[in-house]
Parts: sequence; structure tokens; C-alpha cells
Amino acid sequence: MTSKIEASSGNFIRAFIDEDAADGRYNRVATRFPPEPNGYLHIGHAKSICPNFGLALDYGGSCNLRFDDTNPVKEGTEYVESIENDVRWLGFAWSGPIRYASDYFERLYECAEKLIQKGLAYVDDLSAEEVRAHRGTLTDPGRNSPWRDRGAAESLDLFRRMRAGEFPDGARSLRAKIDMASPNLNMRDPTLYRIRRTSHHRTGEQWVIYPMYDYTHCISDAIEGITHSICTLEFEDHRPLYDWVLEALDWPAPRPRQIEFARLNLEYTVMSKRKLMQLVKDRHVEGWDDPRLPTLAALRRRGLTPEAVRLFCDRIGVAKRDSWIEYYWLEKAVRDDLNPLAPRVMAVLRPLKVVVENWPAGQSREFSAPFFPDDAGRTESRALVFEREIFIEAEDFMPDPPKKFYRLGPGREVHLRWGFYIHCHDLVRDAEGRVVELRCTYSEEPRGGGAGPGGQPAVIHWVPAGRARPARVRLYDRLFKTPRPKGDLDRELNPDSLVECPEARLEPALTGLPPGWRCQFERLGYFITDEKLHDRERPVFNRIVPLKDRR
Ligand code: ATP
Ligand code: MG
Repeated sequence: MTSKIEASSGNFIRAFIDEDAADGRYNRVATRFPPEPNGYLHIGHAKSICPNFGLALDYGGSCNLRFDDTNPVKEGTEYVESIENDVRWLGFAWSGPIRYASDYFERLYECAEKLIQKGLAYVDDLSAEEVRAHRGTLTDPGRNSPWRDRGAAESLDLFRRMRAGEFPDGARSLRAKIDMASPNLNMRDPTLYRIRRTSHHRTGEQWVIYPMYDYTHCISDAIEGITHSICTLEFEDHRPLYDWVLEALDWPAPRPRQIEFARLNLEYTVMSKRKLMQLVKDRHVEGWDDPRLPTLAALRRRGLTPEAVRLFCDRIGVAKRDSWIEYYWLEKAVRDDLNPLAPRVMAVLRPLKVVVENWPAGQSREFSAPFFPDDAGRTESRALVFEREIFIEAEDFMPDPPKKFYRLGPGREVHLRWGFYIHCHDLVRDAEGRVVELRCTYSEEPRGGGAGPGGQPAVIHWVPAGRARPARVRLYDRLFKTPRPKGDLDRELNPDSLVECPEARLEPALTGLPPGWRCQFERLGYFITDEKLHDRERPVFNRIVPLKDRR
């Protein structure tokens, strides 16, 4: 792991760790990140990855990467590979080999036999539906299964035959014998194993019974010697079961301690794998790495650096209370991260031609423009070429500007960034009445006629028309128009989440750009050349983030 990484704070978790160290419960820190390989990682997962790996780094401990692959129906190697890649991209390295819950299937099976022998688990002949009907509700206690009190020997025999494939899927299950009247539904004889004839991405056809998540997770943690098992709040009610299983197995102390924190909810997006899957499958987006998604693959393609993601996670911290995080905080972290890194350059997204009538055709003039104008310590610069025809942003001109519009209009003056002043005296319209060209004159000093406060001319960006380079620019915005989307895609998706600018023009110095090259287009935002749609002649840029705060 690189030392540049600032370990995540995770304040209240730290307090637990320190308390455990003071008590002498543990003399080390061992955490794990346990994704289920049934989807791509998203920024919510990053919120879990950062404290898990970060705390391990901070305390000189270890953090395992363990795939929780107990549900073969939805899991696959495509997801395993993307998850490994994303964790590495975030800048973290797991301790030792990658682990899989499926590595422990034999061990888990032995533990189950032990529970049966101790009279703490039984084979139930009820169907899944009947089990559900017996469970009761939050207000009503559950009912015992008629098979609950069958002898350990009979259960053991049936469990072995379940494993041997003698019974059809769903015919029987193994359940813990705890308490059907418990106020905690998770403790009402939870299912430990079910029969499911599905090929597993690692164990193939070897098993026809699969252990349940709650049963698997605590034992896997214990096998790996995890000290602090950090998970999200919805598992708080599962903690008694986590502890019960290890206690029932007489697992030697010190046992892992489960600590819950609030999951990340980020405004204007969704984090549920099911909803993300639907967006991808129904082609509302162009794949798992569509820059509008909150997946790490998408954020990477969008142009976020791993440092920006970690900065965001660090700032939002981990807490116990469920909350929604404003999208602003993500954009803010991205801007703060890119500000010192990204050279300032100019691009015009929707070009409007300007003819500078008092500049001779065929002549040009070079201006030197710094890449980092706000950083006095950095002197890198490039040449900007001024010529008779230039492009400005169509948005920077109005034929009939209102008072509050400070930029260009007939009879007005603006300052071309790093260059001259231009004064607009005429415009040319096409057959439909659209303004297609401006007629201006330049001057080296302001002549007056700026529309800004005190007659100041606004500063606008520009490129020379003849030498500018063509580019395609994709302006990405929030995927949803509602801040806390519930998943009603027809109503909630933002129709303007991707706006294409196929006619964009770059300043002439921007040649031969590699994929993944980041910059700031002055006044427009931070941008990156797309990794996938790379074209050296006509690069495709993604907008990473706009410049202005929107709250
Ligand atoms: P599923 O609904 O499929 O269980 P999941 O989002 O919980 O989805 P996992 O692969 O089980 O996905 O998650 C791995 C780890 O990441 C878990 O410890 C989980 O608690 C954590 N995690 C998942 N989503 C978030 C989130 N939005 N915020 C913080 N942590 C999360
Ligand atoms: Mg989960």
C-alpha cells in the first residue's frame, strides 16, 4: 500500500478499536472487505473499503478481500474481476491471497454437523413458504416447525443426505434452533442451509446445498482471525445471530466483533445493485462504466481520480446515523482534487464565428498563456494563436442582452482570455434568423463598452477558427432529476444527463492527447479524454465536473 494514502478516519470505529486494545481483547487489527460478486462496486462500497483498509493501514494491521460467494445464482467471474480491479484502483492492497467464502464450504459444513450434534440445529421438512408462514411478525411470535424436535441423529442423517443430493431443491433446509418467540426475527430459527442445484463459479457442481449469508459470514470472519467486522447498519439486527453462531460452535476467544455504520446514500443517484442492474439491462445507460453511474468503473471513466474518491469518503466519514449526502460533496471533492492537477486550457463547445474586421487576413499573433495561472510557482505555458476568424462560445453572445448579461452583445466589448479586446458592431443571421456570425473589431486596450459592473468587459474564452482542433465533448450531469430517487425511472431519470457537443473546438496546442488526459476548460469545468472512445485526431472529452457549486 502506498504511504501517500491518508488512512480514513472512521472516528467511532477507532474508539471501539482503541477500547478493545485497552481491554486487552485484541492486540492487533484485522478487517476485511466482503463484497458479493453479483455486481460492480459503487461509491457506497468505497465508503466501506476506505475505513476497512484505512484502519488496517493506520493500526499496522491487515485487511482481507473476501468474496462472499454463497449465492451462485447471481454471482460470476466478470464481477470478481471488476471488484479486484476497483479495489486496486482505489489504491488499496489486500493482505495475502484473495479469499472466498466458498473456500470454507467444507469447514462450514463441518460446523453445521457440530451444531446438529449439539442439538442446536435441525433439518426442517417445511417448504420455504411454510417456513415463512411460521415465522410470525414483529408483533406476533412465530410457531415451531413440527420437525423442530426431531432427534439429532435423524437430522444428521437427513443433512448428510441433503448434501448427497437425495432431495429436490427446496424440499428440506437446515435451521438453527434458537427461539421462535424472539422479538428479533433473525433469531427465529434462521435457515442455515438450503438445497439448490446451481453451478457455482468456483466449486462447480460439487455442492447442491449452500450456506446462508448470516451463517457463513461470522464463521468466515472467525476462520480468518478478523478482529473488527465492519458492516452496514441493516446488519445491526443480525449481530445477535452472528454472536450466537460463534458461541454455539464454542469458537475460541477472542472472537470477531461486528461494528455497524450507516451506508452511503448519495443524492441524485441510486446505489442498490438491483436498480443499477436494471439501468444497465434496460439500456438507460451505456453499460456498467457509463460515466453517469455511481459505480467505480463509471467514476473512473468519468475522470475522477482514486484520490478524489478517497477524499470524498474521508470527508463524509462514517457514522451510525442513516443520512443522505448532497451530490455537492462529491463534486466538491473532485474539484478540490483536480484544481492543482489540471492544466487550464480553452475549448469552445458550441462555436460561434467571429470575424475581426480590423485584423488582416492571413496574419496571426501568438500570446503566451500559462497552464496554471493561479499557481505562481508553475511557469509552464503554451502559445495561443490569434487570427482574423475566431470562435467564441455561442452562449457568450446575445443579440438582445438583458442587463444582467455581462458578456457580448451588439455594441458591447469583451476581453478575450489572454488576448485582445473585441467590440461587436454587427451580426449575420441565417435564413431562419439564427445568429451565425459576429462582426467585431479588436483593440489592445479596452475601449469601454463592457457590460460588467463599472463598465468592465467580461472575460470570455475563444479559439482561432482556422487552427482549432475538432473534438466531441460529452457533458455528463446527474442521472436523476429527483434528489432521492425511488426507482421510478420514467418519472425520475434526468433526460439531460448526457448532452453531446459534437462540434466542439480545442485550442491548437492540444494535439496528440492520450486517453485519460485531464484538464480544465476555462469557465466550463474539468474534462478528461475518454478511455474507450479514444481518437487522436478528434478526441472525445467527458466532463468530469462543472466549475460552479450547485447546492
Ligand atoms: P446486496 O444488496 O447485494 O447485499 P450490497 O450493496 O450490500 O448489496 P455487498 O457486495 O454485499 O453489496 O457489499 C459489500 C460491502 O459493502 C458490505 O460490507 C456492505 O455493507 C458494503 N456496502 C454496500 N453498499 C454500501 C453503501 N451504500 N454504503 C456503505 N457501505 C456499503
Ligand atoms: Mg450485502
